[in-house]
Amino acid sequence: AQKKKMDIEETRRSLPIYHYKESLVDAVQNHQVLIIEGETGSGKTTQIPQYLHEAGFTKDGKKIGCTQPRRVAAMSVSARVAVEMGVKLGNEVGYSIRFEDCTSERTIIKYMTDGTLHREFLSEPDLQGYSVMIIDEAHERTLHTDILFGLVKDIARFRPDLKLLISSATLDAEKFSTFFDNAPIFRIPGRRFPVDIYYTKAPEADYIDAATVSILQIHATQPLGDILVFLTGQEEIETCQEILQERVKRLGSKLKELLILPVYSNLPSEMQAKIFEPTPPGARKVVLATNIAETSLTIDNIIYVIDPGFCKQNNFNSRTGMESLIVVPISKASANQRAGRAGRVAAGKCFRLYTAWAFKHELEDNTVPEIQRINLGNAVLMLKALGINDLVHFDFLDPPPHETLVLALEQLYALGALNHHGELTKLGRRMAEFPVDPMMAKMILASEKYKCSDEIVTICAMLSVNGAIFYRPKDKIIHADTARKNFNCPGGDHLVLHNVYKQWADTEFSTQWCYENFIQYRSMKRARDVREQLVGLMQRVEIDIVSTDGDTVPIRKAITAGYFYHIARLSKGGQYKTVKHNQTVMVHPNSMLFEDLPRWVLYHELVFTTKEFMRQVIEIESKWLLEVAPHYYKARELEDSTNKKMPKLLGKAKAELGVVN
Ligand code: ADP
Ligand code: MG
Repeated sequence: AQKKKMDIEETRRSLPIYHYKESLVDAVQNHQVLIIEGETGSGKTTQIPQYLHEAGFTKDGKKIGCTQPRRVAAMSVSARVAVEMGVKLGNEVGYSIRFEDCTSERTIIKYMTDGTLHREFLSEPDLQGYSVMIIDEAHERTLHTDILFGLVKDIARFRPDLKLLISSATLDAEKFSTFFDNAPIFRIPGRRFPVDIYYTKAPEADYIDAATVSILQIHATQPLGDILVFLTGQEEIETCQEILQERVKRLGSKLKELLILPVYSNLPSEMQAKIFEPTPPGARKVVLATNIAETSLTIDNIIYVIDPGFCKQNNFNSRTGMESLIVVPISKASANQRAGRAGRVAAGKCFRLYTAWAFKHELEDNTVPEIQRINLGNAVLMLKALGINDLVHFDFLDPPPHETLVLALEQLYALGALNHHGELTKLGRRMAEFPVDPMMAKMILASEKYKCSDEIVTICAMLSVNGAIFYRPKDKIIHADTARKNFNCPGGDHLVLHNVYKQWADTEFSTQWCYENFIQYRSMKRARDVREQLVGLMQRVEIDIVSTDGDTVPIRKAITAGYFYHIARLSKGGQYKTVKHNQTVMVHPNSMLFEDLPRWVLYHELVFTTKEFMRQVIEIESKWLLEVAPHYYKARELEDSTNKKMPKLLGKAKAELGVVN
């Protein structure tokens, strides 16, 4: 134990930031707002809170807070800091993320997602419990981080004792400094070894395949050193892992040992921790990661980076009002960050699976900030709940497009969360209690009227675990698909999710049952936690948990009350047209309604692959729309088979919503 403690001390001292400890603490003491810029892996996230704690910033019982755009980072970094400080995670050091609070009365260093801090403003508008707030990974420019900039800047004026640190990995420091009234910039010079960049000669048709080939080539021909591969999500990572395992097995003992380690946000924390374990001598580690490893997490000893050049992004089309998760090319800035991961401990190599031409001519310089490309419904609801009514004049680092703001206001108005003056209604206030999308919040509140809160809360929990419920191992696809069909029940996919959860609950949450039915136990466990949290929140807004005992109509009506923007009707050739914008969409092949094709459907989300697909679909009746959103859907327009236009009503509402050009 003593040796371990010394190792930790030594590691801490070896970080670039260590040499700046005193000057950093001085700077924080002398300035209320400080912009910090330092290369990824220099120790900003793990060390700064500890330095400030050691310097006495937690003496009077106040906390040091540090936000992270990603859940995984909040969990992983807090775990590391707890180890470094020799305390149990959740005591002095803790984390708080959506649906999971691992902090206690004793917590003085608190890591949290930016969304969680945003929400904390609702109960503690002046952040009284904190002496220092660090907005970390500011360069990521997530929606919540961008809104936090405006909120903390405002708080700082009222709380001269609050220290504010804006920490970023890249070049935006000047911009942050200007925004925060010319706050000083503290630069931590990084140490970076040269990284050789290699491009492919021709574009790759299948980048997962190309990535596995590259991994094996590196493994067979290059000196030891770990490999980091950037993929876009869990599915891709699992596919890559399977292909790789198979090929490694085939090559047999000809090669040195290759450890394959995935990391993505749904991976349980004990498995995430594995990526930080040192590679055994003589072996090589390959980490298959999402964007999370770009700047949020630093994995030591990476020498080789493989960059296919893509990431998954949530994109909102303000013209069509459609939001969709799509795979998009990364920016040059991202590509350079990724390459940088190879040069932290020694000279490295980065293999870009795209051409030099594509890098130069096809990649944008920088990633567009989230606030300019995603649906703002949730953010606007939160700001309204904080009493910020004039959104047009809110202090944004980069303001969102006007249309997007108007669409968000319209949607909240249509959901009944805002009145026609643009003020929060009682319903809106209750909706804001739930850390979910406004549509989902509305569906939860509607479940009170339709007396199906028990079913709805389960459905919400299941939807919130990101779809990873069914398990489909390559060698047992037929079994898995048969097992899955057994859960089918009238109504559609939401009811299937409910059915899975209910049957699982009836087995007293058995692991064996999950295994036999090709259900992901981990996802189910998480759904159970989320459900528990939601039930607690429902009690807060005084909704009793009641069940319809089998009647799916009220359940589907409650869902429709929240998601009436997501309606499509059957058109020619098995295609659907969305009611809102007459866009062509298809039922996802994974849906139980894939073959039924009912006349009217409601979808939970759209994913774009080759086409726009609706994922999680239920059958509805058009007359319900008039029942759940009468002011939104007018009878005639629904009967009209061409269905070209949305109700005009919102034109008027817009003028009244206080959105002035
Ligand atoms: P920065 O925020 O400047 O990018 P960090 O503070 O995240 O840097 O990382 C500093 C060091 O801490 C890195 O060497 C990283 O590998 C290590 N580290 C971070 N999290 C963990 C963890 N969960 N387990 C082990 N080491 C970690
Ligand atoms: Mg960091």
